[in-house]
Amino acid sequence: MTNIYNFSAGPAVLPKEVLAQAAAEMLDWHGSGMSVMEMSHRGPEFISIYRAAERDLRELLAVPDNYRVLFMQGGGLSQNAVIPMNMLGHQGPDATIDFIQTGSWSSKSIQEAGRYAKVNVAASAKADGFTHVPPQSEWQLTPDAAYLHICTNETIDGVEFNFVPTAQGETPIVADMSSHILSRPVDVSKYGVIFGGAQKNIGPAGVTVAIVRDDLIGKALPFCPSAFDWKNVAENESMYNTPPTYGIYIAGLVFQWLKKQGGVAAMEQRNMEKAALLYAALDADDFYQNRVAKEYRSRMNVPFYLRDESQNEAFLAGAKARGLLQLKGHKSVGGMRASIYNAMPIEGVQALVDYLNEFAGR
Ligand SMILES: *Cc1c(COP(=O)(O)O)cnc(C)c1O
Repeated sequence: MTNIYNFSAGPAVLPKEVLAQAAAEMLDWHGSGMSVMEMSHRGPEFISIYRAAERDLRELLAVPDNYRVLFMQGGGLSQNAVIPMNMLGHQGPDATIDFIQTGSWSSKSIQEAGRYAKVNVAASAKADGFTHVPPQSEWQLTPDAAYLHICTNETIDGVEFNFVPTAQGETPIVADMSSHILSRPVDVSKYGVIFGGAQKNIGPAGVTVAIVRDDLIGKALPFCPSAFDWKNVAENESMYNTPPTYGIYIAGLVFQWLKKQGGVAAMEQRNMEKAALLYAALDADDFYQNRVAKEYRSRMNVPFYLRDESQNEAFLAGAKARGLLQLKGHKSVGGMRASIYNAMPIEGVQALVDYLNEFAGR
């Protein structure tokens, strides 16, 4: 079989070594006689898996001691409601949440938050088709906002923050890092909340990671579902109700794999190399086009268009024949998209670049 490279935006490629280990341990985890799927979440076997996963994630991101790591469910989208429900208890529906609108995902967050509080779009890149991050000097922030929400990597539009914003006074920054968490070092202490669905860069769909500063916990609105109240989740080591055990196990294997790769600083170097290789091929002439301003181009999600869109089907068919899978762009923006997460080896990007050159007749 030729090498298969999977460019899906999510659920996405996982490291081969992780899948092989999971397969080897599928029927009998470490001599327990059980599959991880069959274990009680309160038994010593799973507790050890859970604690190792949490410890390794903390180590990889250098999470300070005054932050809780929560493994939740509901995906990135549910956090758009879970976050206001957890953060507005002291302020109520008159509170204002500031947003920076940089693409499809922050737009969805704005829509959902509007059900719980007033929303102020402090800056938006909508008018230019989401091809840049509005510089902080242009942001119209609310002085006493409940929090400032940003999406640091827009998975559909391919726009990534290249700076850490400064908050206004005590306003915590909430960051949706679903599609680039663990792809580069991050200074967790600059944020109040970091969250992400697992299925892009962490593991299988079904796990949602939230990293929450201690002092933001315990302020939930009265109608926040108990199972989504950070206080309950934190006090019960993410086991207030049954957590997505198998997903946490796979995420834990991915964390171990990342540590073996040299951690997130080493991943960042590789991700920069991969992205540079791919963007250079797209920029070589006008056969392909990526519309994002160079300094905000995502290292993880690379949307692009063929100059002649009537060739889209032929491009995708040729790619598939070469083992280059799931390159079709998101339906809302069309075109193509190559997602090159941590688990995509540089050989996969090189194979895509070879094909881009061949298809363009270079
Ligand atoms: C995928 C994604 C989401 C939504 O995740 P779900 O798990 O489908 O709810 C939210 N934000 C970003 C940036 C994403 O990439």
